[in-house]
Amino acid sequence: MGKITGFLEFDRKVEAYKPVGERVQNYKEFTVPLAEKDLKDQGARCMDCGIPFCHSGCPLGNLIPDFNDAVYRGKWENASEILHSTNNFPEFTGRLCPAPCEEACVLGINEDPVSIENIEKNIVETAFEKGWITAQPPLTRTGKTIAVVGSGPAGLAAAQQLNRAGHSVTVFERDEKPGGLLRYGIPDFKMEKQIIDRRLAVLEEEGITFECGVHIGVDKTAEDLKTAFDTVVLTGGATVKRNLPIEGSDLKGVVQAMDFLGQNNKRVDGIQELGEELKATDKNVVVIGGGDTGSDCIGTSFRHGAISVSNFEIMPMGTADRPEDQPWPFWPMRLRTSSSHKEGAERFFSISTKRFVGDAKGNLKGLITAEVEWIKTPGQRPQLKEVPGTEKEWKCELVLLALGFTGSETTLAEQFGIQMDQRTNIKASEEDYKTNVPGVFAAGDQRRGQSLIVWAISEGREAAYHVDTFLMGSSDLPVKGDGDLPRV
Ligand SMILES: Cc1cc2nc3c(=O)[nH]c(=O)nc-3n(C[C@H](O)[C@H](O)[C@H](O)COP(=O)(O)OP(=O)(O)OC[C@H]3O[C@@H](n4cnc5c(N)ncnc54)[C@H](O)[C@@H]3O)c2cc1C
Ligand code: SF4
Repeated sequence: MGKITGFLEFDRKVEAYKPVGERVQNYKEFTVPLAEKDLKDQGARCMDCGIPFCHSGCPLGNLIPDFNDAVYRGKWENASEILHSTNNFPEFTGRLCPAPCEEACVLGINEDPVSIENIEKNIVETAFEKGWITAQPPLTRTGKTIAVVGSGPAGLAAAQQLNRAGHSVTVFERDEKPGGLLRYGIPDFKMEKQIIDRRLAVLEEEGITFECGVHIGVDKTAEDLKTAFDTVVLTGGATVKRNLPIEGSDLKGVVQAMDFLGQNNKRVDGIQELGEELKATDKNVVVIGGGDTGSDCIGTSFRHGAISVSNFEIMPMGTADRPEDQPWPFWPMRLRTSSSHKEGAERFFSISTKRFVGDAKGNLKGLITAEVEWIKTPGQRPQLKEVPGTEKEWKCELVLLALGFTGSETTLAEQFGIQMDQRTNIKASEEDYKTNVPGVFAAGDQRRGQSLIVWAISEGREAAYHVDTFLMGSSDLPVKGDGDLPRV
């Protein structure tokens, strides 16, 4: 694989970012692509390690050494075929995946890992540029009909796989346009939305029908779907936002991150009717929550022209290196610094917000925090304890709650009579993605809880295999680990 001495000759190289002052002026992606020579060198660093742990690090089982090798040899079309054999949408993961594959790369044991994610992005971008990504409609139709509810990465992956198996697929989406959190969660500066539209055009040409602005459970009932379709795949995501029920949480200026991000993406898309304007312009902003959503709020606030942005995280600050109890090849919980953090946010760890403070008109003017420590007792869950005497008041006019999601909505599951777990995720096993209602399947965040794009695509693909098997008795669709690859 690659060049046998490549990892000795070349250092890791990844895409650079445009300067902060330039990129915060707009919502465009700001990465600076690597030159082809650099990408080939990166492919050459893949070192024939024997057991490619990156395969198992990637939830899709992407065949990483194979496409690295193809890139090293300049066989870009073959690289694209290999990549698409396991991943329907590498243009999403190549931009947005946290790349657990790189944490599992064997070279990463004592060197910098291969820049797999950048290679992935460049393969698919080259393939689109060269016109190699074309519609692959099925040769024959089975006559079976499938409703997919929700058009995030899980729904789109399931739809494409099932359509390719010859079934007639309709994707229902309650938002104006398809894409799920890719469109109305993740900001344009991380992924411009024409990247989704470009892929949707291929899906439509393949014969998938999209019905947007249709809220299943409200505009159409579970009974309507059962009558009109042979099977239903639920991919509605984990959409119930976690609150912070403390004093002052009803003040004007305490805003859910998803309301803020969703509205901004619609604004960037040119949508006029947005309701009450949620903007960080000329405000001191506090983002509560240190994950991806929090980071996206930071970048968006800077683009609005915030005076300052502080980011609070209740957990202690991670270490730069792998913690000893999370050895290679596992995904380590260490300090991650996103491009948005680097745009000027101040980060505070082990900090808890006790109450919000408002003025006489009910507007937020500050908040009160305390430092916390996590007490670890063997055999027990860590306990949170406030450090006495550490109360502090902060001035802020906007707080963004980026505390994650508690589960999925219950209305549709109740209409179907589908069992959910305590967190309101739909109960369906990873073995076959079947719910307790025959003919109804579930995948993505609605099944596994708040997760990642790569997992959503993986679940959509796996669920499609089981839906096809349910309808036809067997399936030729690939499942994770299939080695049936186009190779040169
Ligand atoms: C702000 C933010 C940033 C993120 N950044 C990253 C990142 O950088 N990298 C990463 O890997 N992951 C990221 N994630 C997580 C990732 O976006 C999700 O894990 C992924 O989108 C889940 O895909 P899904 O298809 O299961 O659901 P979703 O993307 O949530 O899509 C579900 C869709 O179903 C629709 N829907 C729900 N119920 C109904 C109904 N009854 N009728 C019709 N339509 C319905 C919804 O409107 C939605 O469009 C981020 C999440 C957020 C919130
Ligand atoms: S999808 Fe994510 S984990 Fe898989 S190869 Fe791409 S970057 Fe790595």
